[in-house]
Amino acid sequence: MGDPYLDILPLHDWLAPRWKKLLIAGPCGAESPDQVIQTARGIAASGKASVFRAGVWKPRTRPGAFEGKGEEALGWLQQVKKETGLLTTVEVANAQHTELALKYGVDILWIGARTTVNPFTVQEIADALSGTDIPVLVKNPVNPDLHLWIGALERINRAGIKKLAAIHRGFSTAIPTQYRNAPLWEIPIGLKSQFPQLPVICDPSHIAGKRELLHDAAQRALDLHFDGLMIETHIHPDKALSDAQQQITPAQLEKFLDELVVREAVSDDRQFTHMLQTLREVIDEIDDDLLRALSRRMEIVEQIGEFKHEHNVTILQIDRWLEILSTRTATGEKLGIDKDIVAELCQLLHKASIRRQTEIMKGLQEKSK
Ligand code: PEP
Ligand code: MN
Repeated sequence: MGDPYLDILPLHDWLAPRWKKLLIAGPCGAESPDQVIQTARGIAASGKASVFRAGVWKPRTRPGAFEGKGEEALGWLQQVKKETGLLTTVEVANAQHTELALKYGVDILWIGARTTVNPFTVQEIADALSGTDIPVLVKNPVNPDLHLWIGALERINRAGIKKLAAIHRGFSTAIPTQYRNAPLWEIPIGLKSQFPQLPVICDPSHIAGKRELLHDAAQRALDLHFDGLMIETHIHPDKALSDAQQQITPAQLEKFLDELVVREAVSDDRQFTHMLQTLREVIDEIDDDLLRALSRRMEIVEQIGEFKHEHNVTILQIDRWLEILSTRTATGEKLGIDKDIVAELCQLLHKASIRRQTEIMKGLQEKSK
């Protein structure tokens, strides 16, 4: 199977941003010719968006909800492109959608979160794309599974699509959060770490689920150096047939963009560069100390393992573990370190300790046979 690999073109080779980042905007769903063109005109007026999005086939949780206008709406998007010059993008969820979108000259396709979870469907779309060079954006799967996301990107890439990007739209989680879809930022960071050349766009609309949370999610994405934003925008959001609570008007979109701070990845200010370098050297030293302390801790763990073996005592000592967790989080809090971070760190240490003690006991057991 080999390591995952993506043979892709840089974003700016195939899509020009018109704002400081790539901006894709448009309604959740294409509802009527009027709603589509009015929204597109509003978005085009600001000159900041490069691409107009609109769902033509809508994946809905319950039957009977608005499922999109289908093929006829593809004609409305042609009109948008003709009148505003915006490129167009729609979601495709099977081979038939893909063929129709290609037939109507849609510029960019996106694969939705409910499709990315299914390798059969992604492969069906990949096969329908083979021989074309249309750009494809792959949303993360609904569930927090980085491998599934990478697998979908690979399938599309292997069909010959080099104009490829990922969209982060948050994840379903067992425990509800304030967001509609929990951002779990470590997952897109994991994706970027494996494929530094892969453009990653954030869809804060589907993360937030409501307008009030939109700004924070988008700002976070920009601070994490995402390459662009996809923002659901509707001429009359409250009347939208899907995702009404998270959409904003084209005028609100302008204001929303103005309120975001877009930072640079690097600065050429010499004083800044010098200071950053100095601070990083301090961090390097602290990390070195941490690792040395960790190594000393593991030596003691080994002794404890041997000792427990000698006295025929179990590795897991739940009372001790709970005591470690509560005392360390309390100390952490006094030192101004977030409780969850300390708890996560303790869990890692405990896991390493259990693993090492298990190895020690197994080794001693074999020896004594
Ligand atoms: C959408 O973009 O409207 C949509 C259905 O998104 P997702 O696949 O992220 O739920
Ligand atoms: Mn939507």
